[in-house]
Amino acid sequence: METNPELVAALVQRVFEELTAGQAARAQCDGLFPTVNDAVESGLVAHKKLIGMSLERRKDIIASIRKSVLDANEDLSRMAVEETHLGRYEDKVRENILCATKTPGVEDIEPRALSGDHGLMLMEYAPVGLIGALTPITNPTGTLINNSISMISAGNAIVFNPHPNASHTSTRMLQVIHKAIVDADGPQGLVSCVRNPTLETAKQVIEHPKINMLVATGGRPIVDIVLRSGKKAIGAGAGNPPVLVDETATIRKAAHCITSGASINNGIFCTCEKVVIVVQEVADSLVKFMQETGRVYLLTPEQAEGVTRLVVTPERHINGKYIGRDVQVILHDAGIDIGPEYRLAIFEAELDHPLVWLEQMMPILPVVRVNDVNEGIELAVEVEQGNRHTAIMHSTHIEHMTAFARAVQTTIFVKNGPSYAGIGLGGEGHTAFTIAGPTGEGLTSARTFTRQRRCTLCESFRII
Ligand code: NAD
Repeated sequence: METNPELVAALVQRVFEELTAGQAARAQCDGLFPTVNDAVESGLVAHKKLIGMSLERRKDIIASIRKSVLDANEDLSRMAVEETHLGRYEDKVRENILCATKTPGVEDIEPRALSGDHGLMLMEYAPVGLIGALTPITNPTGTLINNSISMISAGNAIVFNPHPNASHTSTRMLQVIHKAIVDADGPQGLVSCVRNPTLETAKQVIEHPKINMLVATGGRPIVDIVLRSGKKAIGAGAGNPPVLVDETATIRKAAHCITSGASINNGIFCTCEKVVIVVQEVADSLVKFMQETGRVYLLTPEQAEGVTRLVVTPERHINGKYIGRDVQVILHDAGIDIGPEYRLAIFEAELDHPLVWLEQMMPILPVVRVNDVNEGIELAVEVEQGNRHTAIMHSTHIEHMTAFARAVQTTIFVKNGPSYAGIGLGGEGHTAFTIAGPTGEGLTSARTFTRQRRCTLCESFRII
């Protein structure tokens, strides 16, 4: 067979260019790569280096990440709001502080040991290797911080693919985390991302044969996609958290908690109260106390109709233009001008109102009256729609709270506090911005991103 010298030369040149491009990308690595494949190759090398390091050095890397993201917090919070137009600057700052300080580190993978008549069993949490993580537009900074700390604490490397419409903020946050790792003498490329993340690069991450685990934080469709990938997948999906208020609740306190919980970050946390269900007997008081916070605007039925026409499309979808916007912006477009002190608009809704059933992710909150707590529980379970995400209750009646918690089966159940207490903001417990309801891991932490390995030593090492 004859060889074509020109073709051979062109091929050699191309291979050389690809190799040098890859080397150049690695040489001045800031965590961003031209292709998914480059990010993957770099992640594999970094993972090997990480597991060759001591746990003490891994702890240093985590400490460096925590510090660096806190240093960059204000700039990145501002950038997130400017790029995505979602949420509130001061709440993004709180979100990042929460993720930097309350995401568990290496201590979360402490091994278990069991000794008995037959010897010793040691159970260790080993890394899964390379993780592909898809992150949402709603929390482009918090999810990256939270996932990085959890996944690296467990000894993994990560290829992120953030939401394309939050790509500037996400890639900037990734660079901050990457530099923090390298500054602590950690491996380059331990966290990585393509320079321009798109849905196509997300698909490449999902399908890449060298990525061992997928973690999707987003809506139901992307969770379904990763679950069908054939890989081990963790899905953290959408919610529609109902808050139920019964006649035994401390109503003024409930009003304050719901106001704060539903309006934080303009309602874009997946955990935020999205529907109020209140027992008729205390409904007027609840609405009155909410208004008395000075932060809640009560819409008249006509105004509520106008706002609904604006934020819900004729096909009964949420109008994306208004997701995460300030209440003043939304109401202004409906012809209602309110002062800057307001954080939330509420309205009395019938059962079939679309905002009762759709995850609105904006500071517009429907309030539905029910005759008694049992009717309330039944409705709240329906409204939650089997997302297994979050539910909240205000009550002092232990049986009522137990009945609701049992019926609703959510991953997070908050009693007598704002919804965000359930993610550790003013509540006990660690935080997670990947709340895996559909796949059952719950509030994820380092241990979630591991595989368990057992070592059995027969007949020895029981010392009592
Ligand atoms: P989204 O589902 O549109 O996007 C999430 C991620 O998946 C993004 O990176 C996006 O690029 C990717 N993606 C989406 N569709 C894809 C497709 N067809 N192919 C490849 N990749 C795809 O969600 P969002 O609008 O970014 O975030 C808001 C949603 O996320 C809400 O429903 C909210 O409840 C949910 N959320 C859940 C949690 C949780 O922990 N459970 C946390 C934050 C947000």
